[in-house]
Amino acid sequence: MTHLLTEPSQQGREGLDAYRARGGYAGLLEARARGGAWILEQVAEAGLRGRGGTGDGRPIGQKWQRIAAAQVRERFVVANGAESQAVSQKDRHLLSRFPHRVLEGLLIAAAALGARQAWLYVRGDSPEALAGAREAVAEAEAAGLLAGVTVTVQPSAPTAVSGEETAILDALEGLEGYPQPKPPRPEEIGLRGRPTLVQNVESLAAVAALFRLGPARIRSAGTRTCPGTALFTVTGAVERPGVYEVPFGTPLAELLTRAGAPERDEILAVLPGGLGSGPLRPDELDVPLTYEDLVALGTTMGTSAVIVFRKADASLPALVRENVALLGQGSCGQCRGCKEGHRELSRALEAGDLAEARRRAEVLLYGRGNCALPSGTARFALRALHEFPAADWQ
Ligand code: SF4
Repeated sequence: MTHLLTEPSQQGREGLDAYRARGGYAGLLEARARGGAWILEQVAEAGLRGRGGTGDGRPIGQKWQRIAAAQVRERFVVANGAESQAVSQKDRHLLSRFPHRVLEGLLIAAAALGARQAWLYVRGDSPEALAGAREAVAEAEAAGLLAGVTVTVQPSAPTAVSGEETAILDALEGLEGYPQPKPPRPEEIGLRGRPTLVQNVESLAAVAALFRLGPARIRSAGTRTCPGTALFTVTGAVERPGVYEVPFGTPLAELLTRAGAPERDEILAVLPGGLGSGPLRPDELDVPLTYEDLVALGTTMGTSAVIVFRKADASLPALVRENVALLGQGSCGQCRGCKEGHRELSRALEAGDLAEARRRAEVLLYGRGNCALPSGTARFALRALHEFPAADWQ
């Protein structure tokens, strides 16, 4: 199996010496020597896609170019490791086990954008991830690798939406950490009014891999539109739950086999991208794991948390009811469309009124909230309502 982001033989946390022995930080030193324009060119050419929870896979290079083009004195960079959806573990896995790979990517971003201040925003209730991030920063500082960039490790706010990019800016400004209306996005007006890169920690580890291994090695894995590998948390009814690194384009069924999922005829549904992704039927599990293939099926890569449900453990109506209730509990309540929309959808599902549930989910889809939570809930519910056989709803 191809591993670009992690190292399967690594026992415990990969410290600075172990990472450097594998070529770590050589890419950062070369990037600094060659300068911002070269870094931006490399990132754009590699075609790396963002791995944040929105699941849209925005090209990393485009975001970096936009920030670099701003005529400003100051820019900031933030590594987003808040991973607010608890079913996803991949970002905590990276920060706990391979924190230098994230830090190197963050320092390359700082070099590309001329940022002198950087933050590692880490899920606040994960002592392992926080310790990994803090140790990496201390080791890199002692080795002179920060080169004048101030890196602060900041525990995330304890809200279910703390990983949303504008909520992060709020939290870093000392506020509670709630999503704000967009535009402007952080790359336009971010921290202290300056353009700010907020990039998922896996995306930054992919950047470090690009500069450590070179573009040809990255492109040797994955697909034309989704080069490289990706981390997936596989959970639910599987024998070997955990975080798996596989090339983009790997069939979902292959990942499920590695994690010890039940036979297809025992599977009720699989969520490929966390709680807010459209559920897949057992006959749809050969889908290649790329952004485009999942969107074409009406679902999303989302948080890359693959959740398997067995027929023996759940019925479709119960699964949908419980998941919508869980997503609704994550609403921070500041947008009425989100708060009331979740409540009304839950009521319709409790009453078994599927026509009303469809109507409520469609309203929620365009609920005009400040973040993607309501549209994720709607996507989940609508796919279950439209794409699963009527017999499953009995
Ligand atoms: S859409 Fe929902 S979760 Fe998102 S900010 Fe608004 S109320 Fe909070």
